[in-house]
Amino acid sequence: MRSLRPIVHDTGSLLAGMPALMPGENYTTPDNLEEVKDSNSKSALERYIYKLKVVSPDQRYVKIVMEKARELGEDLSETDVKVVALALQLNALLLSDDYGVLNVAQALGIEWKSVRTKGIDGNIKWEKFCPACKRSYPPEYKVCPVCGTVLKRRVRGKRKRRRDG
Ligand SMILES: [Zn+2]
Repeated sequence: MRSLRPIVHDTGSLLAGMPALMPGENYTTPDNLEEVKDSNSKSALERYIYKLKVVSPDQRYVKIVMEKARELGEDLSETDVKVVALALQLNALLLSDDYGVLNVAQALGIEWKSVRTKGIDGNIKWEKFCPACKRSYPPEYKVCPVCGTVLKRRVRGKRKRRRDG
């Protein structure tokens, strides 16, 4: 048998606890791990952190992903770009529920799987927050209007499940 293909998890996959279920090598980026740690639902992390390899992608793969995202008109966050770049670099299976991430991955020929089969956009809600003054903002904000700091992304505490579609 061939060795198992490595798996790269984005933040949604980490929050869903997927690394606990997947055999073989499980990877994520430092940025994704930080997003999970910033979230209010990080308890699953303790169950699999021991088997998670945390790796930053090489800059040349980051560039390839950024160019493809631009070409497709996908407004990916820096974290999104890095996780796709890592999957490309490792020739890995990418686990994500983010349409933008999956769209770019698909265009680059990366094999991917969705973590959930239903209600993708209803499960995880993002918000931006200011690491300096701790204020929260809607996801489309990029810079803190109060203090000018570049905002970071995190999962909003309360998750609602919708049953449409
Ligand atoms: Zn601020």
